[in-house]
Amino acid sequence: MSGLGKKIHLCNQSQCTGCMACKQRCKANAISVKNLNGFLYPEIDFRKCKSCGMCMDVCPILNHQNKIGNCHKGATSVIAAWSKNPEIRMKSSSGGIFSTIASNVLKKGGIVFGAAWQKDMRLAHVYIECVEELDSLRRSKYVQSDIGESYSLTESFLRKGKSVLFCGTPCQIAGLRSFLKQSYDNLYTLDVLCQGVPSQAIFQKYLAEYEALHKTKVIDCNFRTKIRGWRCGLLLLLQTTKGKKYCFLNKNEYYNAFFKEFFMRESCYTCKFKEHDLGYFSDITVADFWRIGNKEKFDISDYEKGVSAIIVNTDKGQSLLKECSDQLNMVDRKWSEFATNGGLYCSKKPSRNDEALAYLCQHSWAETQKKYFPLGKKYFMQLRWLVFGEKNIRRLSRLKQMVKCLMRKIKT
Ligand SMILES: Cc1cc2nc3c(=O)[nH]c(=O)nc-3n(C[C@H](O)[C@H](O)[C@H](O)COP(=O)(O)OP(=O)(O)OC[C@H]3O[C@@H](n4cnc5c(N)ncnc54)[C@H](O)[C@@H]3O)c2cc1C
Ligand code: SF4
Ligand code: SF4
Ligand code: SF4
Repeated sequence: MSGLGKKIHLCNQSQCTGCMACKQRCKANAISVKNLNGFLYPEIDFRKCKSCGMCMDVCPILNHQNKIGNCHKGATSVIAAWSKNPEIRMKSSSGGIFSTIASNVLKKGGIVFGAAWQKDMRLAHVYIECVEELDSLRRSKYVQSDIGESYSLTESFLRKGKSVLFCGTPCQIAGLRSFLKQSYDNLYTLDVLCQGVPSQAIFQKYLAEYEALHKTKVIDCNFRTKIRGWRCGLLLLLQTTKGKKYCFLNKNEYYNAFFKEFFMRESCYTCKFKEHDLGYFSDITVADFWRIGNKEKFDISDYEKGVSAIIVNTDKGQSLLKECSDQLNMVDRKWSEFATNGGLYCSKKPSRNDEALAYLCQHSWAETQKKYFPLGKKYFMQLRWLVFGEKNIRRLSRLKQMVKCLMRKIKT
């Protein structure tokens, strides 16, 4: 009850991650949710507030020093990993690490929390209790998930002695840790390296425009379909009432904006959970190992199915990994090879972001793209990958190099 006599305030709005630890801890029900530019923020009703200070005690921003894991500053190696089961890998966004770890927890009677699409295509944190439900949590969804009451639920499962694996963005894991205040032997946490999250509202606007244009209803969405390979993961699959629709970047203004770092939550532009604080709050961090093999040879034939990077942050993380080591291929790689991953660093807020957001509220996605983030040279490079496929592009590059070498030899 450290708040007695304290001036009650929540953290600065620009830093608030929307984890809602404060709301879930408030016994007086004095915290409601306000919507600002489509993002959710907590708001105290001081007529109901009992000044107990619990909301301040659990805020991961106000209490940022409560770190648990290792610091990876100066790390020299990282684990490259991928599931030995090709089906799991193809169904996942990256190497299928989440599914492998989660299956093990579920098979032992544990609970797994993660982000799943709801019937109305809103993204929410939910829990599952059996392997058959795992697919709903699989794959990266590039929108902020509504955390709901999942911290309170986790706490009640933990108190009943159930094992819980909680998965989410680093700020969501930090929120959970801060909410619980104490450590539990039966709690495991996994976070995904995170570039940032746009709001549900702008994703809903995108879907509404798509549905109106194509006279259909979107019932599922996969941001990372691998039909053209993992590294060509710039292809969005919309499952609609009229069947499957693949959307290339030019037909996909939402994805284009995301890659150009537009419309992220304000806290993502000054994220407190990356670089030096990476993995401080979770037991294990997973990411895409995008540039693997670019500097140093990497021998793997089915590389287009996806390769992840795993960063072990705690002993618990180590034991999670050990338990499923027979289901994963794992290789040590240099940290410098992984350090180029953009998710390790804060997204840079585009100078016209706020102006573009205001414009988007009044105009269509297509009009906003044309004015604020038109397709450039990079897009056409990416399209090349999509059209020709990963393997062929690599072959073409090798062929080009051989021809160059040959020409040089002929000249000399
Ligand atoms: C918003 C977002 C941004 C990301 N940015 C990067 C990046 O910049 N660089 C990088 O290397 N990797 C990034 N990732 C992680 C990467 O895409 C893979 O999710 C990760 O490597 C795990 O892959 P997997 O195959 O093991 O599991 P997957 O099957 O892909 O498992 C996905 C896991 O992520 C959770 N999840 C999915 N969407 C959300 C969400 N919106 N909020 C919270 N949890 C979610 C699921 O519940 C599940 O636990 C990002 C992921 C997300 C969700
Ligand atoms: S101080 Fe206590 S009662 Fe007031 S909003 Fe915070 S948690 Fe709720
Ligand atoms: S606890 Fe989470 S939602 Fe509440 S103020 Fe802090 S960061 Fe924002
Ligand atoms: S970028 Fe940082 S603040 Fe934004 S969702 Fe990811 S972890 Fe949270």
